[in-house]
Amino acid sequence: MSAIDDLATELAKLPGIGRKTALRLTYYLLKQPAEHSRRLADALVTLSERVRTCTQCYNLTEDEVCSVCRDPRRDQALICAVEEAADIGAIERAGEYRGLYHVLGGRLSPLDGVMPEDLTVPQLVGRVAAGGIREVIIATNPSLEGEATALYVQRQLASQPVVVSRIARGIPVGGDLEYADGVTIAQALSARREM
Ligand code: ZN
Repeated sequence: MSAIDDLATELAKLPGIGRKTALRLTYYLLKQPAEHSRRLADALVTLSERVRTCTQCYNLTEDEVCSVCRDPRRDQALICAVEEAADIGAIERAGEYRGLYHVLGGRLSPLDGVMPEDLTVPQLVGRVAAGGIREVIIATNPSLEGEATALYVQRQLASQPVVVSRIARGIPVGGDLEYADGVTIAQALSARREM
């Protein structure tokens, strides 16, 4: 039964899905009309073929430059640095922030093998050095790694003529920005303090 095994093995690689759930999903899909599976497969292929990172802020986009960077109504002098593109969605849903973003691509975590060179910090410094940026808000998660990352980013920006601020601790320590509610995110942003 290698086709069943193959799919279950792939599904089990997804976060939060163990072998048992992977097999249950596989048998569920087997019972569905073939058209259903074809649409799922198409959506997966389209996802990996079309979605790429914005050349300016590393947000996920289907274009060269993402819709946030292209929006002339946004504050072009304000950059909010986040760990992952998913964090942008959470901040956008909060509806208060009107500046630009910069996706760092993770957080420093030597134990997991994430080193400074794995993050897009030089690109962020480059954006600031190019001029016209008033403030960089560091919105990494309030975990140990998130704080270490914030400190690292701040040091890299120290020689630049820009205000570097950190979001307030509205987000519970160890909590994920991605899962915080809109009010919490809006408060954490408005109560930010200079580093
Ligand atoms: Zn962008």
